[in-house]
Amino acid sequence: MHLARFPRRQYTHGYTPIEPLPNLTKHLGGPNLFVKRDDLLGLAAGGNKTRKLEFLVADALEKGADTLITVGAPQSNHCRLTLAAAVKEGLKCQLVLEERVPDSYDENASGNNMLFRLLGVEKIKVFKTGIDLQAEMQSLADDLAKVGRKAYIIPGGGSNKIGCLGYTGCAEEILAQCNQMQLKLDHIVCSSGSGGTHAGLAVGLSGNNANIPLTGISTRGAKIALEEKYHGLASETAEMLGIRGGIPREMFNIFDGYVGDGYSLPTDGMIEAVQLFARHEGILLDPVYTGKTAAGLIDLIRKNHFKQGENVLFVHTGGSPALFAYQETILSNVTG
Ligand SMILES: *Cc1c(COP(=O)(O)O)cnc(C)c1O
Repeated sequence: MHLARFPRRQYTHGYTPIEPLPNLTKHLGGPNLFVKRDDLLGLAAGGNKTRKLEFLVADALEKGADTLITVGAPQSNHCRLTLAAAVKEGLKCQLVLEERVPDSYDENASGNNMLFRLLGVEKIKVFKTGIDLQAEMQSLADDLAKVGRKAYIIPGGGSNKIGCLGYTGCAEEILAQCNQMQLKLDHIVCSSGSGGTHAGLAVGLSGNNANIPLTGISTRGAKIALEEKYHGLASETAEMLGIRGGIPREMFNIFDGYVGDGYSLPTDGMIEAVQLFARHEGILLDPVYTGKTAAGLIDLIRKNHFKQGENVLFVHTGGSPALFAYQETILSNVTG
């Protein structure tokens, strides 16, 4: 796919590594595990939003924006990275925060919240869940227009067809690396949140006829609703890219049994996964996304969902700064 047709900024040098996870593979006794280290992408502390922002911020700059406005939860990695991109480009950034867990915003909280302030956010507005967040972002943009400024609104998680190009590019990167490493992948597992990661990967894999099954693990929301939403997002992206025949529905296979009591609320599986990755591979996961996704992956391995000898790639989408906002949960549960 010729992604150079679309304006893009570059925030990461080269490819992120694909690494084997030999210790964890041995511990779990299942398929051969590999990790795509998208936690090592560029901008402050990295993570999957960096790939989407390369295309979104380029679009904002082309449209003459001086301010980025976006939305996320109080510990949003996406908000942290949008703000970091704004800093790098000499833009301002305003955030709309959604308390998906009632009263969860604390202006003195650690993790990403602390980084919002360190990175110099221009304005934060906090709302209860259920209100029209798009309208709130538009109202901030309107206020800026009144004083002669120009805002660019980035949707939650950067998940629209422009943001999806980031993970279409990631799929091509994975294929190029695997071809070079002579690594035949049998499955790819990723985290499913706002959907740009899953949808973008589906477009890149399917558009290149890779024939690698893709599985998403939900961190918020039910299987069928997410699968349909992501399929729609992938179809729009495919159309923009001129991919004929659309993206097959089977690229959207999501397990929704690992969310627990709700978005960002700890689960035992998450705590176990965070500890296993830390102690077997020295890799930090996060409590909200990759910890629950890895919990799903580990459970599927234990249920023999994958065959012995198969190669399974876990896409590490980042998020470790949020760990520090969960210090008590982690420390009161680590074993040994
Ligand atoms: C946003 C996020 C995800 C989910 O990605 P989507 O593209 O929104 O589905 C996964 N992991 C981390 C660390 C994230 O910040």
